[in-house]
Amino acid sequence: MPILVIAENDNASLKASTLNTITAAKAISSDIDVLVCGKGCETPAKAAAAAAGVRKVYCADCEELAHRLPEAMAEAVRAALQKDAYTHVFFTSSTAGKAAMPRLAGLLGVSALTDVCGVESADTFKRYIYAGGVLATVRTTANPVIATIRPTAFEAAAAQGGSAVVEPLAVQFKSRGFAFVSEEAQLSDKPDLLTARRVVAGGRGLIDEAGFAALEAFADKIGAAVGSTRAVVDMGLAPNESQVGQTGKIVAPELYFAFGISGAIQHVAGMKDSKVIVAVNKDNEAAMFDYADYYLEADAVEVIKELTSKL
Ligand SMILES: Cc1cc2nc3c(=O)[nH]c(=O)nc-3n(C[C@H](O)[C@H](O)[C@H](O)COP(=O)(O)OP(=O)(O)OC[C@H]3O[C@@H](n4cnc5c(N)ncnc54)[C@H](O)[C@@H]3O)c2cc1C
Repeated sequence: MPILVIAENDNASLKASTLNTITAAKAISSDIDVLVCGKGCETPAKAAAAAAGVRKVYCADCEELAHRLPEAMAEAVRAALQKDAYTHVFFTSSTAGKAAMPRLAGLLGVSALTDVCGVESADTFKRYIYAGGVLATVRTTANPVIATIRPTAFEAAAAQGGSAVVEPLAVQFKSRGFAFVSEEAQLSDKPDLLTARRVVAGGRGLIDEAGFAALEAFADKIGAAVGSTRAVVDMGLAPNESQVGQTGKIVAPELYFAFGISGAIQHVAGMKDSKVIVAVNKDNEAAMFDYADYYLEADAVEVIKELTSKL
């Protein structure tokens, strides 16, 4: 039962979340291949080949895939499917994976599963519905099974121990309805929110820019990524990519601080699997306290400043 895992990479390196998706594939089969797409992407291809349990790596290296546009990615995966009779194609549930997966499903005319967080068998999977309120078990008859995998729901496969062969993959791009125009990337020296071991998140209770500056300083002090609620993204206090929740990122760090966050179900859907949750809110009836392992009824910014000064 060969499974194709689509690598997350930026041409220079393999993203750690690929290793979590490999683990999800291992729950079904030991025949796991990885497709690495990009331009000049030998390094991530070699990294994928070194991951434990990987059988073969296809490397689709060409100008059209330089920016891994979702339409181009879908065509590359289709080319890999013509090489081997894959029963499953697993993307990581990231911005890139969530964009490419439905395009592949459309090209192949099969239904797909999103945000899988448990593998029961080759055709039966677990995924949250209703903003994380219900964990559904779903059975699919699709062939191949195409899915996005929630990386925080699976341990990472070992990055070393494998010795897979790397094979070039030629892709014929049939549709030309896409073109790269430009890219704006936020450069940050903070840990990646999706894979950070510690996340400090702020909500409307941080009030203003000064509150968020204090949050950033605290994050730097403890080597954490910064998360936020949609409310503060909408207010322009935090960048889009920091949003945690149903329509943001799904995180599950070892430690999650929720400062001035009410605990709306749409936010909680993105962080409730965190190992330890600490909430600070001035309202002792805040819903976030119901999810917290430790909570404190206090002014969020004052607590942040005190913690920062004491650490
Ligand atoms: C379809 C849909 C999708 C959504 N997706 C998301 C999503 O992905 N992520 C997300 O976060 N939201 C999402 N939302 C929005 C969500 O419903 C909430 O509106 C949002 O999470 C609230 O953010 P908040 O907790 O910062 O603000 P509020 O709900 O206004 O809460 C602010 C909290 O701060 C506390 N507070 C105030 N002052 C202080 C202080 N000085 N010190 C300490 N505490 C203080 C208050 O007691 C309150 O609990 C979505 C909504 C919809 C409808």
